[in-house]
Amino acid sequence: MASTNIPENTIFIGGLCNSNCIMCPYTEHFRRNAKSESFVRLKQVVDSMSPDSEYVCITGGEPTILRDDFLRLVEYCRNHFPFALIHILTNGRTFAYRDFLDDFRRVRPYKTLLGIPLHADNSALHDYISQSNGSFDETLRGLDNLYRAGEHIEIRIVTSRLNCENLPGLARMIAERYPCCRRVCLMGLEMMGNAMINRNDVWCSYGELWPFVREAAYILLMKGVETELYNYPLCIVDKNLHPVYRRSITPSKIEYLHECENCRKKNECGGFFRTTKIMPDISVRPY
Ligand code: SF4
Repeated sequence: MASTNIPENTIFIGGLCNSNCIMCPYTEHFRRNAKSESFVRLKQVVDSMSPDSEYVCITGGEPTILRDDFLRLVEYCRNHFPFALIHILTNGRTFAYRDFLDDFRRVRPYKTLLGIPLHADNSALHDYISQSNGSFDETLRGLDNLYRAGEHIEIRIVTSRLNCENLPGLARMIAERYPCCRRVCLMGLEMMGNAMINRNDVWCSYGELWPFVREAAYILLMKGVETELYNYPLCIVDKNLHPVYRRSITPSKIEYLHECENCRKKNECGGFFRTTKIMPDISVRPY
């Protein structure tokens, strides 16, 4: 395979996952029929990427489900990408097991960030959203283990109709339990896969959603927890929160409404995913 010189790369380990989140951008059918990549194949993928990459994301599915092949992949990345931040998107459940955490810590690159979703401050709601009994307890045990070990953790909260009222409580729990995590990302939905199939349950207009996201963001920031806002249109975000707003959608996936055409802040706005833009109650307030 020819080497690419792209400074940012993504390694997709396959669609298998031990959760089945109700708003996952992949469908349950895709995941159930997915195959995970072997280490040999993943090594070829890594070899095709420039060793000068500055950012490498390992995602799936659930990467740690590969277990030994995941650990081999992480170790291979440590050697292949000496300068990169390795961002691993995981549901964190496997880190509940100390032997796995210890093995991971032996092989992980120096600059590693683990992005782990939390859906609620209680097991009933978190497990309902992940559609996996016991996932809340396992994720918290994984987060506790990683946090105590001093690993860099990013807690990701995907905001939807199901958890919007719980966001302030979840923010308080995170601020109390993980005040020194690397950051908390409050994230709008990408309406694909399960999210689109379950749209009547998960979709919430930005007007209804935003007051809860705003409150959660202020709780975290007031407690000194680094917080970022992903996947929201800029015009719903209070001006005071613009410093923590990010243009998070991959540039090739960003779309805007026709009302956005003459917006003075279009260049600062992260816009919409193509499939989110078509939701019926999207409205914007151009600057
Ligand atoms: S009007 Fe459109 S471009 Fe302007 S901030 Fe809102 S979504 Fe972004």
